[in-house]
Amino acid sequence: MIIVLESQATDDQVAHVVERVESLGLKAHLSRGTFRTIIGVIGDEQIIRGAPLAAIPGVAEVIPVLPPYKLASKDAHPQPSVVDVSGVKFGGGHLGMIAGPCAVEGEERMDAIAAAVAKAGANILRGGAFKPRTSPYAFQGMAEEGLKILRDVGRRHGMPVVTEVMDPRRVEIVAEYADMIQIGARNMQNFTLLTEVGRTDKPVLLKRGMSATMEDLLMSAEYILSQGNPNVVLCERGVKSFDPATRNLFDVAAVPAAKHLSHLPIIVDPSHATGRPHLIPACALAGVAAGADGVHIEVHDCPERAFSDGPQALLPAQYAELMTKIRAMAKLLGREISAVSPKELACDAR
Ligand code: PEP
Ligand code: MN
Repeated sequence: MIIVLESQATDDQVAHVVERVESLGLKAHLSRGTFRTIIGVIGDEQIIRGAPLAAIPGVAEVIPVLPPYKLASKDAHPQPSVVDVSGVKFGGGHLGMIAGPCAVEGEERMDAIAAAVAKAGANILRGGAFKPRTSPYAFQGMAEEGLKILRDVGRRHGMPVVTEVMDPRRVEIVAEYADMIQIGARNMQNFTLLTEVGRTDKPVLLKRGMSATMEDLLMSAEYILSQGNPNVVLCERGVKSFDPATRNLFDVAAVPAAKHLSHLPIIVDPSHATGRPHLIPACALAGVAAGADGVHIEVHDCPERAFSDGPQALLPAQYAELMTKIRAMAKLLGREISAVSPKELACDAR
């Protein structure tokens, strides 16, 4: 931490800052320049981060040296992390391919979609049982029945499953059925929820909030990691913008930006980022080219009848065509789509 003093700071004020730093058990290294005095603080930055030093008279600026996300940062873990979801790997050259409908709508439909995406090469099945809807009158999800359908269909087709949890009180039940727990964009800063999923042993798919900075996203990951759960996969799903031409603004630079700052894998979700099927394939490929560790895509066999997010669903044939291109892109870049290990999945079966 570096403390920059105002040019008008008096000797008493400088001495007071030094005293405050030392009272926290840290060392202060004073450096007097021609115009400004700076104090280098030596010791655990976490201690001083919580102290409101900028409030001390004479202090112009307090500049942290380390990122506030200790465990999510590359300082803590220089090598990229690989997250294993019941045999499917994200990171370290492995791509996780998540596909399925926005919401679980019933067993038959789920089964048909799962069969199609599995055939196309998806390795994780998705489907929301608890849906975060803007309107309280919109379909809210099938709750536990939906979880059961998702899990059963996933097992039938040899795919681990991911599904969203919105309420800390439901974490236990969701963890019982899911191989990976999704924290949706709207809940990225629900700190109680993050703490709860951090206490489980399930990998977490943490979606970036629609107005969250990279630092906000990594601080949310930190909540999960700090509870002892090291298996976090980040997800770029678009941020708010002024332009209705796309549902959100797909921030492809978030992928290399996250990789520069953190060891955690990051995937892209071009479905929620763009909101339109004709925009999804280009953005999915751009995400992989940018270094994403996976792609999350909504697929529905009859989008016009979908209970949620129908207008952005790819048809199974469109998904299969995209997967052919993703595979080629991955090969070109020396990466591969992680194969599902049926053995591991069977061991995990309940
Ligand atoms: C979803 O995955 O269906 C979803 C609601 O995503 P997000 O939280 O990114 O909007
Ligand atoms: Mn959706």
